[in-house]
Amino acid sequence: MSGASQDTRRKLPKMDKVLSWPEIASLRSLTSHVGLKQAVRNVLDQLRSSLAVNPATDLTPVSISHLVRNQIRIAETPSLRRVINGSGVVVHTNLGRSPLARAAEAALHDTAWGYSNLEFDLERGERGERYAHVENLICELTGAEAALVVNNNAAAVMLALSSLAAGQEVIVSRGELVEIGGSFRIPDVMRQSGAGLVEVGTTNRTHPRDYIGAITEQTALLLKVHTSNFAVVGFTAEVNTETMVRIGQEAGVPTMVDAGSGCLIDLARFGICGEATVQQHLQAGADIVTFSGDKLLGGPQAGLIAGRRDLVEKMKRHQLLRALRIDKLTLAALEATLRLYRDERVALTEIPTLRMLTMPMDVLASQARRMLRRLRALLPEQFTLTLQDGFSSPGGGSYPLLQLPSRLIEVSVDGLPPNRLEELLRTTTPPVVGRLQKDRFLLDVRTLSDNDIPFLASAFCQALELTL
Ligand SMILES: *Cc1c(COP(=O)(O)O)cnc(C)c1O
Repeated sequence: MSGASQDTRRKLPKMDKVLSWPEIASLRSLTSHVGLKQAVRNVLDQLRSSLAVNPATDLTPVSISHLVRNQIRIAETPSLRRVINGSGVVVHTNLGRSPLARAAEAALHDTAWGYSNLEFDLERGERGERYAHVENLICELTGAEAALVVNNNAAAVMLALSSLAAGQEVIVSRGELVEIGGSFRIPDVMRQSGAGLVEVGTTNRTHPRDYIGAITEQTALLLKVHTSNFAVVGFTAEVNTETMVRIGQEAGVPTMVDAGSGCLIDLARFGICGEATVQQHLQAGADIVTFSGDKLLGGPQAGLIAGRRDLVEKMKRHQLLRALRIDKLTLAALEATLRLYRDERVALTEIPTLRMLTMPMDVLASQARRMLRRLRALLPEQFTLTLQDGFSSPGGGSYPLLQLPSRLIEVSVDGLPPNRLEELLRTTTPPVVGRLQKDRFLLDVRTLSDNDIPFLASAFCQALELTL
């Protein structure tokens, strides 16, 4: 090390000295004693590096206290936090999928702060089953004989395969050997569960005779997997649930459907087509249907299993269930969400995911005009806001080809490139996730609400300050 740089580093004040400055002492109220020391330590580390390249680094108490304040702010901000979703992707897996309905939030809150009858039968005064809180409800809504819930749909598929097909064979169409984001691959899940995969058909076409020809003494299950995040178009053929069930029944083999999103309401009348509901799969005779709690269902992360009682009982007895079990907060939110489905109109208005997906164009358009007006009133003149036509997507591995017409707000700032604006908005409180399209920064009104307006305005102002 050169004498000069040793010299400059010697200028760096010592920790105890810094802590004794009134400018630093005044930050005490923002964090704990340990938090303050850690923040000072981090800042001194930064300054040491900075001095090495710039001997003129500002070391005044005022300047250092600003850096320490900023360090405290970073350390005190929770890692997992609320984000404003302006992307227009309704079930956005990276943004936590479905926001919960108010009723689910209330149930979650009630269960969180106190004790609950999670596994206690209040009538009999003895041990109960956590699954009992939603089993009848799922049966009532889907028409299934029995039901079970686990941590997520991946867990549901894993549990079903392990309980029903370990050491035996499961027949799946090559067109349905999907990979869902986050590395859930049907062939891998199958291997993990100990079931042998028998692939039939081709990528684009699978026929009834393919299943029939593959059934042997070893066959435990016919599996149909929803091709959630892609579509095979053109010269295609797939075997529907009804036909698979008939083939299975003739051979005495049950049929399971991994429905992925798991819709309980037929959304065709809203122009959202192509997804069979869970009830339709069960009516077609599927012996087991599994689906997610936080995709189209609009509830918390969970995996729902509905179907034949004897098969569900097998799953309930399997060791794996203990490792995959649903937690009480999730269960509370799930029960409350499912209760909303007892009245379809209530579900469509109260469950945010369904409300956003089925929002009519005139409502979207007037919401867009209202947001634009209110945002303009709150923002300084550097911002230009205009309305644009565009498309939102359902997301969550449902309807991969569907584009929902929507209204978008384009936001631009004098002298600030759109990609820089997009970057800055990811660092504000709360962060805002928008969409960059053809060098324009856009916010899709479909995934925003009036409640977001003050937060959006504040985030935009913070972004502007960060450029100064
Ligand atoms: C999303 C999905 C899964 C995984 O569900 P999680 O609830 O995310 O575990 C499994 N299968 C299909 C077909 C899916 O679409």
